[in-house]
Amino acid sequence: MELYSRVPIDVQKIDTKFRKIKTALPVPESMEIIERLEKYEPTSMSGQPPIIWDRAEGFQVYDKWGNMWLDWSSGVLITNAGHSHPRVIKALREEVDSKLLTSYVFYHEKRAELVDLLQQDAPEGLDKVFLLSTGSEATENAIKLARTYGVKKGGRDKHVIVSFNNAFHGRTLGAQLAGGIPTLKEWIINLDPGFVNVPFPDGFFQEDVSFDVFLDSLKAQGIEPKNVAGVITESYQGAGPFFMPKEYAQKLEAFCRENDALLIMDEVQAGFGRSGKWFTFEHYDVKPDLIACGKGISSSLPISAVIGRNDVMNMYPPGSMTSTHSASPLPVVAAIANIKALKDERMTENAAALGEILEEGLMNIQKKHSDKIGFVTSKGLVAGLQIVKPNTKEGDKETAYKINEGCFRKGLLMFSPVGIGGMCVKVAPPLMITKEALEDGLKVLDEVCDEVL
Ligand code: PMP
Repeated sequence: MELYSRVPIDVQKIDTKFRKIKTALPVPESMEIIERLEKYEPTSMSGQPPIIWDRAEGFQVYDKWGNMWLDWSSGVLITNAGHSHPRVIKALREEVDSKLLTSYVFYHEKRAELVDLLQQDAPEGLDKVFLLSTGSEATENAIKLARTYGVKKGGRDKHVIVSFNNAFHGRTLGAQLAGGIPTLKEWIINLDPGFVNVPFPDGFFQEDVSFDVFLDSLKAQGIEPKNVAGVITESYQGAGPFFMPKEYAQKLEAFCRENDALLIMDEVQAGFGRSGKWFTFEHYDVKPDLIACGKGISSSLPISAVIGRNDVMNMYPPGSMTSTHSASPLPVVAAIANIKALKDERMTENAAALGEILEEGLMNIQKKHSDKIGFVTSKGLVAGLQIVKPNTKEGDKETAYKINEGCFRKGLLMFSPVGIGGMCVKVAPPLMITKEALEDGLKVLDEVCDEVL
């Protein structure tokens, strides 16, 4: 199934400050590389627009044939500080030259610096940090800790993990059990009854956003609140982005406190300034027990973290909660440099300020096509347009892909549509983007929506 044209098209040439398209797209010379990848990789790896990334800097991505895209993907919300941030590059160079490239969980000095930095921005009482490599490992670990905690505190019945419809927490077994997208779980066959999904109060698919829905859903599924070990939610659901109403989030926190269940915020996508606050749960004024981090933690190399309460994080004895590449030195120094750059260059504040321009621009586009852009959500520098069959809530994946491909051909890069059946065109530029570049991207999206819709 080819979602994007594999036949090179003579697109209009573009040569502006932010975008350059000099060749047919896909680039004819790139097809040999794409074909080789598709021959030796699983089909699942071929879902993105057909561009061969050669270099990426700041908010731009280059191929080696002279094309330059304005990047609204940040990879997949990885490069919060921008691609190849000079401080990240410098830290990596120095680390390579120091000749410490791995150390398993033997101590190294930079690891001390990173865990200290990470706990400083977490709520009070969350002062332990466990470093891993991927977001899925972080959510898996948080789930494991919640179950371990529940059973320890309340016996074997207190093992239920509650999560939300349409949630995404990664592609490993536990993460997918907690995920709320049924098609992703078909392969599991024997679903664990100790994982239950409840409706997410997104305000679009789920119009009733009251907390009663949560309680009613647990009841309908025969779950007693006292048996809940933990509740895991993305701070915003990536499929939207969909945010919880603040009141809902606060009631959720109160539910967790009343039932001694752990509140786990999956900030893998939402953290490190993306939504205009360091962590997205800060918009809700709630305090989680565990935070899962990934992606924007380094803006580059693979590293993730679980930040959490002392008593919860210390349940496993020495040597029994580790991973071969926990705190690998290169990702660690990249994360330190990245976090300092995000702060020193006030990128969270930039995301908050430019977020208003992004939201207004997207709303203006939606107004012109309100029958086909069902819902727009935006906070900081993450946003989504839900593309629907006219005047329904039924997703229109084909049209969403056409919009994405149209932007790609004009030099605006986004990863493939996400969400329910691929109906969401997702906007997520690096947080160091300028106002001028953001407005340039909005102009492209506007033009393409006019053409496609
Ligand atoms: N949680 C969320 C909210 C995510 O968006 C993702 C990745 N898209 C993950 C977990 C999994 O992270 P990874 O792909 O690094 O395993």
